Amino acid sequence: MIVFDLLCDQGHRFEGWFGSSADYERQQGAGYVACPQCGSVAVGKAVMAPAIGRKGNQPAVDASKGAPAVSEPATSSAPGKAVAMARPALTPEALQMMHALATMQKKALESSRWVGGRFAEDARAMHYGEREHETIHGQATPEEATALVEEGIAVMPLPFPVVPPGQAN
Ligand SMILES: [Zn+2]
Repeated sequence: MIVFDLLCDQGHRFEGWFGSSADYERQQGAGYVACPQCGSVAVGKAVMAPAIGRKGNQPAVDASKGAPAVSEPATSSAPGKAVAMARPALTPEALQMMHALATMQKKALESSRWVGGRFAEDARAMHYGEREHETIHGQATPEEATALVEEGIAVMPLPFPVVPPGQAN
């Protein structure tokens, strides 16, 4: 097990437990890692507070005094401690947008059926009236998706990866 300090786009900090770092990447990418306080899935690893080291311009520690010259302020729990997202390239606006997108996708898929690798086949069958119309989502290769679009079949890439049902955990 591995524990990560996580931070959501609303600034809530929480701990997440994962089997491995790769587990975390997979679950986070699939939107399974949600903030316990607000449910946001726009979650990233919080950067651990850097260890406070001696500054170069500080005098060397006098060994006879024992204690090292670590300048940690007494009010270490004071607010304003720097906390950064693991992916600093994302602005709060971008994170908010991702959150909105993730929520939209989740809502959109509530009424949609997972068809897995049969997506292209099913979409085509519906388009040609061989089966009843319904909203489906599944997996398609870029070639399959391109072929569908060229045939005039409305397909849309999902902004976030979806973990097929049954493959969770
Ligand atoms: Zn939150």
